[in-house]
Amino acid sequence: MVDLVIVGGGPAGLTAGLYASRGGLDTVLFEVGMPGGQITTSSEIENYPGQQTVISGMDLMQNWLPQAQHFGLRYEQDEITSVSRSGDGSFTLTAASGKTHNALSVIFATGSVPKLAGFEGENEFRGKGISTCATCDGFFYRGKEVAVIGGGNAAIEEAMFLAKMCKKVYLIHRRDSFKAATATITRLNATENIELVLNAKPLKTLGDQSGVTGITVAFADGTQRDILVPGIFVFVGRTVINNAIKDANGDFICAVADNGEVIVDLNMRTSVKGLFAAGDVRIGSPKQVVCAASDGAIAALGALSFVDELKAK
Ligand code: FAD
Repeated sequence: MVDLVIVGGGPAGLTAGLYASRGGLDTVLFEVGMPGGQITTSSEIENYPGQQTVISGMDLMQNWLPQAQHFGLRYEQDEITSVSRSGDGSFTLTAASGKTHNALSVIFATGSVPKLAGFEGENEFRGKGISTCATCDGFFYRGKEVAVIGGGNAAIEEAMFLAKMCKKVYLIHRRDSFKAATATITRLNATENIELVLNAKPLKTLGDQSGVTGITVAFADGTQRDILVPGIFVFVGRTVINNAIKDANGDFICAVADNGEVIVDLNMRTSVKGLFAAGDVRIGSPKQVVCAASDGAIAALGALSFVDELKAK
């Protein structure tokens, strides 16, 4: 039985790992993919405090795991497929590898994944010209024209990243203004090879057996336009990852909002004692690295108190 299991190795989970291990808890962190979380797919981050220059998400995250390991955090690459509460109040976690793990407390920090924009051919052409990662796939479109779909910070940042290597970027947004930081919008307006396609809804992918050839968009006035590009990048928000906290009947083991976000209090405590949630997966998360890190620290401090009290009984 370990003191704490952390599910997810993004900014929330890794910060929780740092605080919990440094605070003396015997802690194991499970990460299904690469430690660092979704920000490692971002080419640019400029709003993490203390980082004066624009750096890649990969560079930002590279020291987070070693720093936590330095204080004793144990790390395993595995997917946690279920978290359940045992009769004595402790937790049993099952991993995709088939192993089970027992813990006095759990921090659930599984983050989120890209949402679909919902246009025809979006799934069919994923990986054949449709992407949700400019860092990963932008290189394939060097010197070519691409379309970006979305109107938030992530969409604009990735459009600007692509504009550095692509001939032209069409930024397709269903509204006439952007939901992003003023500094980001100022940089967008100063980027000459980005054409704003506003009040436009993506309708269908144009393509053939070799992949994407373009996208048809529909405007609010009923007109349509075919934008001929070999690459389409979709950044329209995120869906939280919460499957592991469902029981065998598909019911959540703790209180969850209608949109799937885990309900927590200001101490990141869920409705189940000893189970904490942190980062993008928790209700009302601003879905930012600094906020996820902060959540992770708060959850770890909560887990420290919880385990201390349990052991004092
Ligand atoms: P995540 O980073 O999603 O990490 C969760 C981790 O849990 C993942 O690594 C996942 O593999 C793992 N996991 C999931 N389920 C399991 C399981 N069952 N078992 C084991 N492991 C599991 N934020 C900013 O502050 N500034 C920016 O400029 C910015 N730009 C962005 C650009 C892009 C393209 C993207 C995608 C995101 C951007 N963000 C930005 C948002 C930021 O990355 C997230 O808010 C932050 O990473 C959330 O951290 P997290 O730890 O909650 O979740």
